[in-house]
Amino acid sequence: MQAYPLEPSAEEMQRMGEDALAFLTTFIGDLPEAPAVDLEGIEEVVASLHEGPPEEGSDFAPLLHVIATAAAKGFNPAGPGYLAFIPGGGLFAAAVADFLACGVNRFVNLWSPSPALVRLEQNVVRWLCDLFGYPLAARGILTSGGSISNLSAIVTARTSLLGEDFSNGTLYVSDQTHASVAKAAVLAGFPRRNVRVAPTAAASFRLDAESLRGMIEADRGEGLRPFCIVANAGTTNTGAIDPIADLVGLARREGMWLHVDAAYGGFFQLTERGQALFRGIEEADSITLDPHKGMFLPYGTGALLVRDGAKLRDAHHVAADYLQDLAHEGELPNFSEYSPELSRDFRGLRVWLPLKLHGFAAFRAALDEKLDLARHLYEALRTFDGFEVLEPELSVVAFRYRPHSGDADEFNRGLLERINASRRVFLSSTILEGRFTLRACILCHRTHLDRIEEAAAIIRRAARDPAR
Ligand SMILES: *Cc1c(COP(=O)(O)O)cnc(C)c1O
Repeated sequence: MQAYPLEPSAEEMQRMGEDALAFLTTFIGDLPEAPAVDLEGIEEVVASLHEGPPEEGSDFAPLLHVIATAAAKGFNPAGPGYLAFIPGGGLFAAAVADFLACGVNRFVNLWSPSPALVRLEQNVVRWLCDLFGYPLAARGILTSGGSISNLSAIVTARTSLLGEDFSNGTLYVSDQTHASVAKAAVLAGFPRRNVRVAPTAAASFRLDAESLRGMIEADRGEGLRPFCIVANAGTTNTGAIDPIADLVGLARREGMWLHVDAAYGGFFQLTERGQALFRGIEEADSITLDPHKGMFLPYGTGALLVRDGAKLRDAHHVAADYLQDLAHEGELPNFSEYSPELSRDFRGLRVWLPLKLHGFAAFRAALDEKLDLARHLYEALRTFDGFEVLEPELSVVAFRYRPHSGDADEFNRGLLERINASRRVFLSSTILEGRFTLRACILCHRTHLDRIEEAAAIIRRAARDPAR
């Protein structure tokens, strides 16, 4: 068989596409039975795939086989048993959208090259703004993930409130805030010490607006310029939600920017319970979302919404002569003027197609189910002697076991290993109040009650029979 030319014939494209589709439908169909984690023989597999540059081409079938072999190993964030870190998902409709977006390969980060496709992406951005009650002046961008969204948010707050001389500007996070916020501040040019870390309340892991106010006041007294508060709408550790309305009030009184990091929790806003928990979020200056978490989309899909869209543009727009033939902002935005990127993938279609195909109702139902599943796991563990379980606010269940004797951290480290050795579920751990803690994050659209009941049984068995 000869290698494919750069432009395959119609029959060749058809065959390649059908083979890829056959692989993917089988892969997805097998996910319920696939291990939640598979690292067996991983060194050999990795070593066998180490290769030099291919001078000549190859047939497609052996390459598809390589992809299948490689994809079978490692963590399986697309599967129903994956409860570690923040699960992924990966909707099939999004894979189809990416296939189509890459195939048509249109440029969408300025509007005039593809007005109609930009219309689709701007619809998505506007729907997200509507979800959070943002006014028509709001603007948003689709990013590669929450980290870049947080970066653009910090840069926007910095430009808007501090101008170009900002080295004494300080921002405020909690001891539960995702590390990407401190990283964003450092990348935005702030000394690391300007990221002020406020302690959270015991057990709730929430920021306290009153003690934060004291910290801000003290910093002002030192000649610092407090400019930004970052509130969590669902922390990565436990799903804790800061008192957003109180923090918005504090930011207003202090003349500061209030950014909400809702990368993990944001899409629970689709549910009634989520809306009640996030009360006040519509007044936040900016919101980070991660559709590749709460919308079950593939990695590489984040979002940032900014209430006063002009400020997002002010912080990112730099003109260039070689773009002079392209139209200025009109009814449609030039996304590149709101973001660090110029050329990029057409992320909008990856969000638009699943939303149009399934409707918001399907996402709302799936997220409501995740909230119920977290309650279910909480009850199943709480009622079992020896477990300390944190009541979930969203879909993260944090817990540890209190052994009768011996080092508790060591016991829980072993417990995590025994649970994960089942390969039916895969959990991760964190440190809470100085202690090793296990956490189950339920966010994949493929995770249902049967797997959560199985998880509870596996966890209880692993705690009861340490020898196994
Ligand atoms: C995942 C996460 C981030 C980082 O998002 P990426 O998409 O991984 O870059 C930021 N904040 C929170 C709360 C998160 O859960």
